[in-house]
Amino acid sequence: MNVVVCVKQIPDPAAPSALDPVTHNLDRSGKLILDDSDSYGVEMGLQLASGDGDEVILVSMAPGGETSGLRTALAMGAARAILVSDDALSGTDSLGTAKVLAAAISRAEPDLVLTATESTDGYTGTIPAQIAELLGLPSVTFAKKIAVDGSTVRVERQTEAGFDEVECPLPAVVSVTAGVVEPRYPSFKGIMAAKSKPVDVLAVADLGIEGGQVGSAGARQEVTDVADAEAREGGEIVVDEGNGAERILAFLEELKVI
Ligand SMILES: Cc1cc2nc3c(=O)[nH]c(=O)nc-3n(C[C@H](O)[C@H](O)[C@H](O)COP(=O)(O)OP(=O)(O)OC[C@H]3O[C@@H](n4cnc5c(N)ncnc54)[C@H](O)[C@@H]3O)c2cc1C
Repeated sequence: MNVVVCVKQIPDPAAPSALDPVTHNLDRSGKLILDDSDSYGVEMGLQLASGDGDEVILVSMAPGGETSGLRTALAMGAARAILVSDDALSGTDSLGTAKVLAAAISRAEPDLVLTATESTDGYTGTIPAQIAELLGLPSVTFAKKIAVDGSTVRVERQTEAGFDEVECPLPAVVSVTAGVVEPRYPSFKGIMAAKSKPVDVLAVADLGIEGGQVGSAGARQEVTDVADAEAREGGEIVVDEGNGAERILAFLEELKVI
């Protein structure tokens, strides 16, 4: 079984990059790391594709030929990667990104495509359904458990009240929620092996995508403004003067949580 896992490589959230003052786009020119959200998809893929001949293939779109995040996922155990990197992709919006990823994914002839539900830096949460639509595949979102049985995938789909049991034919695109599996740490052997695993670097023209569909020219979205997030308010300190428990109860009742 071929499991494709989409992995986004992002600027390190611990050292956030600047936004361009005119376009408000994130500066992605430095080193990029594997988005933590995608480590769950990689782990899920490795667990599902553990038989002889099974392969986990990573697909990523990132500027500057960046492979640092891909190498982390290869060190976890993925077999190979496809990276789409091209100056023509600068300014590409989410639909353009989905077109690029869908074209790269179809090269890997997947039985199953895994993504996270949303990335950590852009988090529009639109890419998984867009990829499914572009590839004409079923889309299952918010998976907390995935099982493959022959040509069928069975998914427990997280809901507010619990979970739905959903099944559909393969190939399909399934987005995975964070925290559902424990991503493995790359071993030293894995890190060494990852250095020589194949990464196929493609340009837009290799995918048969016309230039006008991607980049700023093809973007239908525009970031019109950005603002700082509101600072957290100080909160209320309750000093226990012998009636602390009652005051906490009254506070929780006021919030209608009890
Ligand atoms: C007007 C505009 C201009 C932009 N210009 C740029 C730019 O110049 N350079 C730039 O890098 N970004 C740019 N972006 C951001 C870029 O379009 C988004 O990062 C991209 O659309 C993915 O959206 P998201 O992160 O919200 O994906 P989500 O839908 O939140 O992602 C869900 C999942 O899809 C998969 N996924 C998403 N993106 C990728 C990826 N690139 N590779 C592999 N898997 C992926 C991952 O599994 C991810 O967890 C721009 C956005 C806009 C609106």
